[in-house]
Amino acid sequence: MANLDGAVQDAGIPVAVTVEEVREAVAAARRASKTIGLVPTMGALHRGHTTLIDTAAAQCDFVVVSIFVNPLQFGPTEDLDRYPRTLDRDVVLCREHGAHLVFAPTDRAMYPKPQRTYVNVEKLTDGLCGASRPGHFRGVTTVVAKLFNIVLPDRAYFGEKDYQQLVVVRRMVEDLNFPVTVVGVPTVREEDGLALSSRNQYLTPEERQAALSLSRGLQAARRALEAGERDPQVLIDLVRAELAKEPLVREDYVSVVDGFTLEPLIYGREPGSEGAGGEPQDPPGPIVVAVAAHVGQARLIDNLIYREDQPA
Ligand code: AMP
Repeated sequence: MANLDGAVQDAGIPVAVTVEEVREAVAAARRASKTIGLVPTMGALHRGHTTLIDTAAAQCDFVVVSIFVNPLQFGPTEDLDRYPRTLDRDVVLCREHGAHLVFAPTDRAMYPKPQRTYVNVEKLTDGLCGASRPGHFRGVTTVVAKLFNIVLPDRAYFGEKDYQQLVVVRRMVEDLNFPVTVVGVPTVREEDGLALSSRNQYLTPEERQAALSLSRGLQAARRALEAGERDPQVLIDLVRAELAKEPLVREDYVSVVDGFTLEPLIYGREPGSEGAGGEPQDPPGPIVVAVAAHVGQARLIDNLIYREDQPA
């Protein structure tokens, strides 16, 4: 495949850089009756990403990993320019974890013309990260829709770490009838609880220590849920108490939401959407406690998903 430096070419896995190249490789796999899995990433791969690749490789015959830092999902003051880019290393990890093709397009290959068409999932993108990152999810759903149309996967893999993104992509797939099964993969953590993230690279050792307050707060909320606590404000306060112990941590939000509608839970009211005016209602989802905070140069997110039937 064209225009790659030596290290990438020698990685023992093909790297497509154009839409035509990836289409050709996937079409050949399809002709051989292989099922196609897609793992969309922005690169700087870590064990969270490789767990998605492992899961895809266990479930699909031909796994495509896309590596693309999508400018459309970054706000003007966000970290697009300094986002870590480690393509040579990423490609080796993809091969080691059983992927068959890397798709690493240039911005030009993905957006040859000014983009005039966007996919926007309503309501589900209003709160949580959508509130502090306007336009972010529109960028995500637009690039994911493009990747789905380019790769035509049977299954696509997303991490529960970015819970709102997972719900938003699932809804796009349902609402627009993409013939893709979306698979959610549980959050991969460091031994001390920190959720793996490419943005953890921005943290100094002191900030990394302070960042543990996010997962500590969520653990406190989980213990309370397991003990029967259902008042969202109590759960929020437990998370906030941990964040407040760390002067290096500045909260963006702490929310307790219904895991399907992403609406804040109100104590004593049944979860699920209101369904006014005869609209179909969303069934109640799991209880999700979600947190976002700035730590040094990094904006970090984490969540816990509490399913009543299988609380562990
Ligand atoms: P990103 O490269 O940050 O866009 O992430 C690509 C995919 O990897 C997304 O579906 C993320 O949700 C997922 N991911 C990132 N970090 C983790 C993690 N710690 N555990 C599980 N999945 C993750």
